[in-house]
Amino acid sequence: MYTHLPDKQTLENLQAAFIQTLDAAQTPEAITQIRNDFLGRKDGKLTKILRQLKTLPEAERKAIGMQANAMKKTFEDALQEKLDQLGKKTVQKVWIDVTAPGKKPNIGRLHPISSMIQHIRRIFEQLNFDITNGPEIEDDYYNFSALNFQKEHPARDMHETFFLPRKHVLRTHTTATDIHYLETRKPPIRMVTIGKTYRRDADLTHTPMFHQFDGLMIDEHISMAHLKGLLHIVMERLLEARLEVRFRISYFPFVEPGAEFDVTCTLCRGEGCVTCKGTGWLEMGGCGMLHPNVLKNAKIDSEKYQALAFGFGIERPLMIKHKVSDLRIFFENDIRFLKQFDL
Ligand SMILES: [Zn+2]
Repeated sequence: MYTHLPDKQTLENLQAAFIQTLDAAQTPEAITQIRNDFLGRKDGKLTKILRQLKTLPEAERKAIGMQANAMKKTFEDALQEKLDQLGKKTVQKVWIDVTAPGKKPNIGRLHPISSMIQHIRRIFEQLNFDITNGPEIEDDYYNFSALNFQKEHPARDMHETFFLPRKHVLRTHTTATDIHYLETRKPPIRMVTIGKTYRRDADLTHTPMFHQFDGLMIDEHISMAHLKGLLHIVMERLLEARLEVRFRISYFPFVEPGAEFDVTCTLCRGEGCVTCKGTGWLEMGGCGMLHPNVLKNAKIDSEKYQALAFGFGIERPLMIKHKVSDLRIFFENDIRFLKQFDL
């Protein structure tokens, strides 16, 4: 079989072919193809020639070998140079359309409930209240007994309690924190607890975990009038509306007298609508004068001091303010819903 052995001319022809194809190449892919064609490990045209060197007569082997190896280096350098040129061209081709609308960065924001909590904090800080929070797991004493819930009293059933081992409960109201607070302080006291509470309850307007704020103001000569005035200010700032307010007589074991606190329906301005069930009033929460038994449990002289007390849900004013009818949607964490609150 005739085998054409490489000579000077073969190499020159190969170099000419290489230069021609490289000049025509316009993409990085084409460069890769040329590298394979000429320098590919198995079938590259120059690789084959280099492989044949050992079959040459010794006199030619050295000269042709030197030339072929120099060409390999030249090819590699030329390929790289061309690749660099193409890269620069691609970069130059990128241009900016200054008239295109900008991309809005996705900026995080507070959850509407966190934002509402901050709002409530600010209101009470301005009124010189101390803001606090306590444990979410309580024992029977702090959640019930110290707050004048007698053993076997039906009032305990009003709270759909989550019971835990060893007579512990998930706190059913933030009022449980009040006794902890009072144990270490002396009147005059202005305090508000803000935090999570838990009850076995789930429907449109109830979730098993929800938030409350709950406060006390203890001093000499405190009365229901102070309570009404304070809550009026707080609710107007909270709902950001002018409101009428009213007490309705009610019962909570830890207050005497006890009342429900209502405000004008902000949706119908008192005309009557679905949210206020046609009454023109919205129930906001419970309040009253702290029961002397509770003051006694906190070792505060109930002859000398009186205490006003109030407790409100945080989700309810939030729902009213933003006209949301289903509470559960706040806890589904659907970004499409949550990002609508520009609070
Ligand atoms: Zn209404």
